[in-house]
Amino acid sequence: MNQKITYEDWSDISSSFPLDDPSKGAKNVLEWAYGTYLPDEIIYASSFGAEAVVLIDLIQEVKSDARIVFLDTDLHFPETYQVIEQIESRFPGLQIEKRKPSLTLEEQASAHGTALWKRDPGLCCQIRKVEPLRKALTPKKAWISGLRREQSPTRANTNFLNRDDKFQNIKICPLIHWSWEDVWDHIRTRELPYNELHDQGYPSIGCFPCTQAVGTEGDSRAGRWVGSGKTECGLHTK
Ligand code: SF4
Repeated sequence: MNQKITYEDWSDISSSFPLDDPSKGAKNVLEWAYGTYLPDEIIYASSFGAEAVVLIDLIQEVKSDARIVFLDTDLHFPETYQVIEQIESRFPGLQIEKRKPSLTLEEQASAHGTALWKRDPGLCCQIRKVEPLRKALTPKKAWISGLRREQSPTRANTNFLNRDDKFQNIKICPLIHWSWEDVWDHIRTRELPYNELHDQGYPSIGCFPCTQAVGTEGDSRAGRWVGSGKTECGLHTK
């Protein structure tokens, strides 16, 4: 089944991955992905949140020198940089690359005004996340994401393999069948490092201006862009 799927040569083989293993199909998908694409054709774009440390743990079992990209907006919490350092120590073979936007915060403020995230978070995410990922993906064939179906209605129809019109790439989502409880069971069982903010009421952690503590119960995407109507940074929307 090592058929290389590309944006131009799309074929959905998502249903062919067996689910009856402890990882709910994730390991099968990752073994296919790293066995199919060349090392410079595939990256994992990681947020280093709870799903991310699980996915990194699964990835390093399949590909110990996998390439991981972190979109460093210059607006992350110190705890996020701390967990990246912990992951680097735990899995020293992984190639973790921090990608910066083309504009510094000062340049962005000069061009678009201060605190753009308050007035136009869509543009801010476009500059600080979407465009850096676009550059990181070109000319990659595939990228991996930690999306889970139960995270939000906009993610409920995600498949293992997805034709990504936005980046003209294949988006691979190994964790679609995992619950929030599955994620935390894996973190505890494997004693993985994780972002300390998860213990302080932050289920989902992005940039500090757009992330609030909301407690430990309920929607795992709650606390992001509260009050703005925005629910996604734009990486996963058309
Ligand atoms: S999450 Fe907020 S601060 Fe970060 S890039 Fe998006 S709008 Fe800007």
